[in-house]
Amino acid sequence: MEIIEKPTNTGHEKVLFGHDAASGYRGIIAIHSTALGPAVGGTRFWNYATEDEALTDALRLSRGMTYKTALPGLPLGGGKSIIIGDNQTSNREALFRAHGRFIETLKGRYITAEDVGTNPADMDFVRLETSHVAGLLSRSGDPSPFTARGVFRAIQASAKYRWNADDLSGVTVAIQGCGNVGYNLAKLLHGAGAKLVVTDVNEKSVSRLVNELDVETVRPQEIFSVPADIFAPCALGGIINDQTIPQLKVQIVAGAANNQLLEERHGEMLRERDILYAPDYAANAGGVFNGCSEVLGWETGLVLRKIDEIYDTILTIFEAAQAQGITPHQAADRLVEDRLRQTD
Ligand code: NAD
Repeated sequence: MEIIEKPTNTGHEKVLFGHDAASGYRGIIAIHSTALGPAVGGTRFWNYATEDEALTDALRLSRGMTYKTALPGLPLGGGKSIIIGDNQTSNREALFRAHGRFIETLKGRYITAEDVGTNPADMDFVRLETSHVAGLLSRSGDPSPFTARGVFRAIQASAKYRWNADDLSGVTVAIQGCGNVGYNLAKLLHGAGAKLVVTDVNEKSVSRLVNELDVETVRPQEIFSVPADIFAPCALGGIINDQTIPQLKVQIVAGAANNQLLEERHGEMLRERDILYAPDYAANAGGVFNGCSEVLGWETGLVLRKIDEIYDTILTIFEAAQAQGITPHQAADRLVEDRLRQTD
């Protein structure tokens, strides 16, 4: 494995590029911060057009992990890794074992798990080369149902803040992305009596939901302008932007996708339109709490309690934002930055 360290001016502790000629593996590990503990963050497997595009994603996602773990006070830092390539490949063992060897060179400073394009079986291959991996089939497993439960709690809290009632029966939720998290979230919302409008670029994912639940479907580009009460982004990041904000006909945005705001100013734009935004890294921390059963030895009861407390965290953020006249995203960032400063 050929490993090259890439200097950045983004405040990251370490950014490494790895290349394994034998398996065709090309990957990146970005460690944003280990100030509070070892850096945790999943492996994203995606066919990026360029290495620069992959690096940008790794830098943004790893920084987001520092914020996600610091907000609830976990003794963990933030990192992320990327495998560049076709995530439908059958060459999984060779690629994920190469990824495991790359992770092992960091001796525990970075711990991985699943993210977009990867699954628990892939993590079992990583485990053959390193112990610094969570989300294994035989242990905490797929984090997605736990992430979905946390997003559900964030949606309830947002409804409580906006409408002074967290009962979701009759509330319409537009879900973008019916993958691992979107599917589980749809089931929870349906169980709570919400009406659902869903979309996905992958027709199989949409059909799975249509066959199981009473949902309305729209084409991917129509999801932003669907008349609904809540928009739940559960696909990729950057979807709250100059083009989509004017289309929104909802009062709340709360979902699972990482880095939903393309730029920080888009949080301001949502506020100007009086759309309440539940900060992504606060809402989608459920999977990380589940991973704590492996990384920190938490019991299931504690995992579930922490996930349910996302409700209180989101309300605290909304109240701080209101009191300080800033956006919820800025309020969440301030809470984290205060915490990180205390460790300096
Ligand atoms: P996934 O790959 O299982 O699902 C994503 C779905 O989005 C796929 O079905 C894909 O076809 C669809 N999609 C992609 N682009 C789309 C578009 N433009 N319009 C509509 N659909 C589109 O991933 P996931 O694990 O469900 O994660 C979803 C999001 O939540 C990601 O941003 C991920 O980073 C974030 N997240 C996931 C977890 C977790 O536990 N899985 C935890 C925290 C955050």
